Amino acid sequence: MSRPQRITVLGATGSIGLSTLDVIARHPERYQAYALSGYSRLGELLALCLRHAPVFAVVPGDEAAQQLQADLRAAGSSTEVLVGEQGLCQVAADPQVDAVMAAIVGAAGLRPTLAAVEAGKKVLLANKEALVMSGALFMQAVQRSGAVLLPIDSEHNAIFQCLPGDYARGLAQVGVRRILLTASGGPFRETPQAELEHVTPEQACAHPNWSMGRKISVDSASMMNKGLELIEACWLFDARPAQVEVVVHPQSVIHSLVDYVDGSVLAQLGNPDMRTPIANALAWPQRIDSGVAPLDLFAVARLDFQAPDEQRFPCLRLAREAADAGNSAPAMLNAANEVAVEAFLQRRIRFPQIPSIIEHVLNQEAVVAVPTLEAVFAADQRARSLAGHWLDRHGV
Ligand code: NAD
Ligand code: MG
Repeated sequence: MSRPQRITVLGATGSIGLSTLDVIARHPERYQAYALSGYSRLGELLALCLRHAPVFAVVPGDEAAQQLQADLRAAGSSTEVLVGEQGLCQVAADPQVDAVMAAIVGAAGLRPTLAAVEAGKKVLLANKEALVMSGALFMQAVQRSGAVLLPIDSEHNAIFQCLPGDYARGLAQVGVRRILLTASGGPFRETPQAELEHVTPEQACAHPNWSMGRKISVDSASMMNKGLELIEACWLFDARPAQVEVVVHPQSVIHSLVDYVDGSVLAQLGNPDMRTPIANALAWPQRIDSGVAPLDLFAVARLDFQAPDEQRFPCLRLAREAADAGNSAPAMLNAANEVAVEAFLQRRIRFPQIPSIIEHVLNQEAVVAVPTLEAVFAADQRARSLAGHWLDRHGV
């Protein structure tokens, strides 16, 4: 039998990282953690290194590296600690590595994820912000290097499973009419609009169906997550924004659907547990056990659908406008959203001010072409600085 595949997990201490390590640990004959990265919860990273014995661990700074290296040595571990973005890019592109789980949150994941793509790896993409920011450049790099890009976002993994193997010929060529992107609607789906002024970070992070990191939880509550996913779907499946329809489905059992010209609509269903898309992408085109319980349709009993309310959730409209504008607009949308979400989590702004900041930033700047990664980061920085000025004037 062949050796286990070596996997780098970028963002190993996060929600997706931990679910990935759970699936890996179920199949030691198939997979082996090769490198793990963490950013803040370094005690957790130490425990993960002792459990999974990776060759490398990556932390943000020199001090953290010295501490972790000393703790690892003291525990008899031979894991070597690397530092910063350079360390992340090194373990993403390492010739020994077969697959990279890109599960850092936000723009911080872009360079390491691209490093994995450029090295032609099998790239399991959870870090949607990286693709939203740099869409065209990212997809060109996939084409150039021959990297195999597999979606981890449950919706995109569902769409991937519902498309034929040759979908890259073009959606029209394979008979696709529309992509139906499902959304749970988040914790405030039925909250009266006036009450959204008073919701807290704790309420925003208490998602009804999924357990996730704080940033994506707030994005789900504002529906910016679905906006980012709309842009993500356009790049992954070469779709126009108008071909992607958002459908609110509160049970989160159908993870998305593909509507074909003959009237067939294919869906992927399952319990809301990220280990399903992670196992699907890790083993693709095979299937492995993920640890997820079988779906009990009698317990689910009913599946509901609604149109999204863009009045209540302006982030969805802003994302669709950015998707239509293309060029620098998605990178600016993403950066302004990252600043706004952080400010909301720090109680500097109220929940409805998240879209206010983003709209302000997008209205300040003309959309420009972003032909290079430097241009993408310049747009990102401009948006962060405009959002910062807004916060100085209006935030507490
Ligand atoms: P999380 O907050 O739980 O984990 C984020 C990880 O990134 C952690 O390991 C953290 O240490 C690391 N990190 C944070 N800032 C960093 C920085 N500046 N530099 C390097 N590393 C940094 O988040 P999550 O919920 O696991 O989400 C990770 C990504 O996956 C996000 O892009 C999210 O949108 C996407 N995603 C998550 C889910 C989910 O169910 N959690 C579902 C679909 C997509
Ligand atoms: Mg998703």
